[in-house]
Amino acid sequence: MPFKIVIPASAILDQAEGILRLDYPHGCSRCDKAPAEHFETHRLKLRAGLKHNPLPGRRYKMERNYQVKIRLCQRCYLQNYLQAPETLAGDDTPLGRLSRVQNFLRTLGGITAGLGLLLLTPFVPASEALVPLKVHWWLPAIAGVGLILLGLLSQVLAKNKLLRQLSDAGQFERELVRAETRTPLFADPSDRQQIALEVQMNNTEWARQCAAHYHFGFEEYKQ
Ligand SMILES: [Zn+2]
Repeated sequence: MPFKIVIPASAILDQAEGILRLDYPHGCSRCDKAPAEHFETHRLKLRAGLKHNPLPGRRYKMERNYQVKIRLCQRCYLQNYLQAPETLAGDDTPLGRLSRVQNFLRTLGGITAGLGLLLLTPFVPASEALVPLKVHWWLPAIAGVGLILLGLLSQVLAKNKLLRQLSDAGQFERELVRAETRTPLFADPSDRQQIALEVQMNNTEWARQCAAHYHFGFEEYKQ
């Protein structure tokens, strides 16, 4: 990935919905195929103005969550699940729904197991009413771990099935991978021209055209 698209903070801050779409050119950003009506999602944070504040809490003067969406064809979208299944959770597609269920199982499992461990601590007093609960701390702990494993197992099975389908159709191409993103911090939150995001991808020509269309920078990447 020798080149990168270089994006100023203003391009991110101007998006009212917090979604920056890299959707030009209209072909797939990995393989150039059309139609390309899907997107890969990157959930990122824009951060500026580090506070010299040792207390916990907000560490930056400006901190904003946003998403970058980059255009993909159907095949590359399916392949995206193999590489980063959890990133499809916001999509209105069958794989997006599956990803949401899997994420939910993991979150619920984490909370349930956490409750079990909490029963072991002095935060739950060993009063008469609570002792029966405290001695059974392992029940939620095991149930929680079970839910987490169920979520992971479902993901492994779905990945294997998808990989088989793509391979059988001769469509799987290992080198078609997600773009890489880097989010430099910047010092002055009011300077909207500072670089807040760099996007690197294997498809140099797509990246070049995208950067030119949106008037972003396009630079050689130096290690
Ligand atoms: Zn593609």
